[in-house]
Amino acid sequence: MVPVEKALQLVDNRIKPTQEIVTLSVSNSLGFVLAKDILSPINMPPFRQSAMDGYALGSIEEKTFSLIGEVQAGDDEDPELKKGEAIRIFTGAPVPSEAKTVIMQEKVEVIANKVILQESVKPNANIRPAGEQIKQGEVALTKGTIINAAGIGYLATLGITHIEVYKKPSIAIIATGNELVPPSQKLKHGQIYESNSVMLSSALKTSGFVNVSFYKVEDEYQATCSIIEKAIQQYDVVLISGGISVGDYDFVGKALRDLQVDEIFYKVKQKPGKPLYFAQKDNTTIFALPGNPASSLSCFYIYVLPALQKISGHQDYHLTRTTSISNSEYSKKGERAEFLKASLKNDKVTILDGQASSMLRSFALANALVYLPEEVSKVNPGDRLLVINLP
Ligand code: AMP
Ligand code: MG
Repeated sequence: MVPVEKALQLVDNRIKPTQEIVTLSVSNSLGFVLAKDILSPINMPPFRQSAMDGYALGSIEEKTFSLIGEVQAGDDEDPELKKGEAIRIFTGAPVPSEAKTVIMQEKVEVIANKVILQESVKPNANIRPAGEQIKQGEVALTKGTIINAAGIGYLATLGITHIEVYKKPSIAIIATGNELVPPSQKLKHGQIYESNSVMLSSALKTSGFVNVSFYKVEDEYQATCSIIEKAIQQYDVVLISGGISVGDYDFVGKALRDLQVDEIFYKVKQKPGKPLYFAQKDNTTIFALPGNPASSLSCFYIYVLPALQKISGHQDYHLTRTTSISNSEYSKKGERAEFLKASLKNDKVTILDGQASSMLRSFALANALVYLPEEVSKVNPGDRLLVINLP
């Protein structure tokens, strides 16, 4: 049994960022990490652009200007503009080359084709110069950037349609257990609904991992072996749920050993999630997660998600950790470190009721996990606690 910090370190040591690069359309690149710097193919804005609805002025010394025309966003004319002349202009429209400045419409009075200024003007006001945001050939986003919604918008403003990103891993989820039936069926005595697959795939989806395939296997040695063997051949990451504990019908550990995976650790000094198993074989990473739903999800957030993010090229791949003041009293029994479902609000953290590893309600309401190291046995209100934010 390894301590939590050691288990985290072992995962970190063994997981390497992928070197595989794929080209994706920008619209499908949400959550991927850039594998190369992106250079802007254009100036942005591409032309001298009005930042306001108002008037482009041919000079700045006069108080009264003759209104001689109009330029709208999208127009491609470049009307002549002399000293003492003004042109009606709108936000986003190209500013005539000869315009000295743009004045907001709120700051003028217009009477019979005369534009009368209410205050003096400065040269080049309310004009976005061509290339103000970025010039053609400059670096728009650097290698290592995680593409978010704004990043997608930004690349689209530059007319970029495809980018090179690090490949995200393909993932198999294998649920083990004779007792498990899909939520659409009627339960017979002794059966329960299979919930880990949909829960884990939803947690994966939240963090942008959607290349996921599902398998279900009975508690039977041969079947367990062959499904795990196939998954190791086909997927980058294999997540197994259940069957990794010490019961007579828990065949996952034996199957993995007989498949000669490289076992890195089995059992972590933690609650929930003691029977966590971490291994690698060929180029596949294997996590066998305990079947109890809350244990499974805890192990997912603490070990699996950072590993997946690291593989995918994230530089900060751990969940964010903070400290926060406890609202709660809690007694820890036993020596293992604990991860407690908690609610973090206004810098204060409440440990939720219902921490058993078979229970999910507290997890459904949690936005954080409180980490109690092995040596802590009692939490009092006002104590400062280590908190892991959930995505
Ligand atoms: P195991 O780790 O296989 O011993 O399972 C521990 C507990 O978790 C048992 O009560 C199982 O019925 C339950 N369990 C295992 N797998 C799942 C699953 N996929 N969905 C819901 N409960 C599960
Ligand atoms: Mg089982």
